[in-house]
Amino acid sequence: MDNGLFISLVNPAIALTLATAFLALWLYRPNRSHLVLVAMAYASSATGFLLQYFTLPIGLPATKLLSNIGFMVASLGIAATVIGQCGRRIPWFGMGLFAAGALAGFSWFIFVQPDITWRVLLLNFGIGGISLIVAAELRAIPNKAPVQRVMLALALLSAVNFFVRPVVSVAINGPFTGYENLYSSLYWTTALFSHAILSLMIALCLFTVEVLDLTATLRSESLTDPLSGLLNRRGFEAKASKLLGSCISSGLPVSLVVADLDRFKSLNDRHGHAAGDKVIVEFATRLRDAAGSRAVAARTGGEEFAILLPMADPAAARLFAEAVRTVFSGNAIAGLPLDVRVTGSFGISSHSGDESLDDMLRRADEALYHAKKSGRDGVRVSYQRLPEAVVSDAPPQVA
Ligand code: GH3
Ligand code: MG
Ligand code: MG
Repeated sequence: MDNGLFISLVNPAIALTLATAFLALWLYRPNRSHLVLVAMAYASSATGFLLQYFTLPIGLPATKLLSNIGFMVASLGIAATVIGQCGRRIPWFGMGLFAAGALAGFSWFIFVQPDITWRVLLLNFGIGGISLIVAAELRAIPNKAPVQRVMLALALLSAVNFFVRPVVSVAINGPFTGYENLYSSLYWTTALFSHAILSLMIALCLFTVEVLDLTATLRSESLTDPLSGLLNRRGFEAKASKLLGSCISSGLPVSLVVADLDRFKSLNDRHGHAAGDKVIVEFATRLRDAAGSRAVAARTGGEEFAILLPMADPAAARLFAEAVRTVFSGNAIAGLPLDVRVTGSFGISSHSGDESLDDMLRRADEALYHAKKSGRDGVRVSYQRLPEAVVSDAPPQVA
């Protein structure tokens, strides 16, 4: 294979590989629809490069126009993906204006007043303008993540590449006289090289964003209970420890409420496991609604729940638990016979001394045990004894 052809195939090969990689990633994560867009963008870039070397039966000018439409579509697709991935609205109008302006100018200088130098300059300026829009959008993001800073630098680098490099090349080597002259110029060699490097670096950033998003999703899933949408035990321990620490350091009262649905086994036996699941979801919804955004609520086991309430003393925690208990047991559950009522028992411990979360959980469980013993459908509070009484090793009192 001759060297020239080999070098010219490097860019389409890179672009097609990246298109395939993004497509494969999309098949794995179909809800990330921008992955299709970026795959199409890289495929379009590959087509653009191939059409530079292989002329279609429609003739050279029309093939060149198609090739440059390919480059423009690729630029728009990659720009839209970068901006969209950062959660910003995609400025289609501004980017479209640069693309349409560049292609209109290109058409003029190939069909009406043929001039290859102007065609090259206009095409580059169009893509450079799109790069500047991307840079402006990324610059406007407050508290940029490291990968967003890298993408901003790449957008600026891309703008310099498309505005400065062609102008400098033409200034040094003079205007192009034809495609032979263009392909053997310093401009074309640097274009192939810079395009390959930029494509790879942008793709690397986009892949990094996907990996970070996937990691965040997996981490959140590992802390969440899929049935109720509440935290699971692991998530509860992580978040509640943090909240407990911040309440203690700011001297705010904090209470723990644990709840266990009553006679759940027999409910499952009578109405089926699916009905039991509905009850769990219903109870979780009541808890979430009552707890608000500051509390940490979790499903810690089958039909067991825990809520850490910041700024809540024993009286406030008792009010909270009583409210959830009465609303839950007083209402029918969607999907179950209207006369079926499910109740729950609650145990409460408020933070005292240098207790850990585990200590609070143990006391709240003891209070819950007393609520069960006293006939269920009730709330019990564990009151920590005064320090001198604790010395006697007596268990905490439950009221
Ligand atoms: P108590 O009033 O003493 O709490 O009685 P209980 O029957 O609720 O207590 P027990 O711990 O004996 O039973 C809990 C039941 O919860 C047993 C299990 O079948 C059921 N369970 C656990 N996880 C799930 C779940 O995800 N869905 C359903 N439907 N049932 C579950
Ligand atoms: Mg239980
Ligand atoms: Mg139970």
